[in-house]
Amino acid sequence: MDSLDAAQELHEIALLAGAWIRGEAAPALNPLRPVREAVGEPQPLPEIHHDQPPNPQMDNTREERATALESLRISFENCQRCAIAAQRHSLVFGQGNPQARLMLIGEGPGEQEDLHGIAFCGPSGELLTKMLAAIQLSRDEVYIANIIKCRPPQNRNPLPEEVANCRGYLDAQIDIIRPALIATLGSVAIKTLVSGTEGVMRLRGQTLSYRGIPVVPTFHPSFLLRDPSHKRDAWEDLKRIRGILDSQANALR
Ligand code: URA
Repeated sequence: MDSLDAAQELHEIALLAGAWIRGEAAPALNPLRPVREAVGEPQPLPEIHHDQPPNPQMDNTREERATALESLRISFENCQRCAIAAQRHSLVFGQGNPQARLMLIGEGPGEQEDLHGIAFCGPSGELLTKMLAAIQLSRDEVYIANIIKCRPPQNRNPLPEEVANCRGYLDAQIDIIRPALIATLGSVAIKTLVSGTEGVMRLRGQTLSYRGIPVVPTFHPSFLLRDPSHKRDAWEDLKRIRGILDSQANALR
């Protein structure tokens, strides 16, 4: 397969994924469609309304969701919408179980994540792994993503335009995974998804909602590394997460 064939194939996968996310029939693919312009450009995103629940599709298999996530990743791996794209080593898409019941959403990649292309693989990721283990969850069972997919310089907070540019990709991930519960890590994530202005200090201890999905705000692991005095509150949040997952599982019996 030459590079143009490969590009054509990727482009078609992205088109199929877009239709899948929107719940539309697969588009007829035109083998003569020019793909050179499409390669290197992020694909247009499906329109997602932040106030609507994920599309209640049929019960997709793990493989179908994995394919849709990979198609989405490919569709914007060359994204240059923000200035910070020029400095990235990796676009950190997110990873985990495509059928996860729990989705964790952080802020944006740090240095290690940028180097390795994996969300929460640095020191804060180590703590996150321990936090999950404390409620009998492994990283393979959950899905981990960030509000923005490129590392901001010096780990500064994402700018509003960076959040806006990446928002549709995160929503598309949520649409594919359709988690039973979202846990936000830190203030950027809860402000972006739910509150606008109120951060985790004000909102933790509650169960909120995003697109019909329950949301538990908790502290960012980096913050807990800097200020371990909040680990006691984080433990309460983790128990809340475990309790919601268990009560949903019991309701299905
Ligand atoms: N901090 C985040 O918010 N996300 C990561 O992936 C790593 C550190």
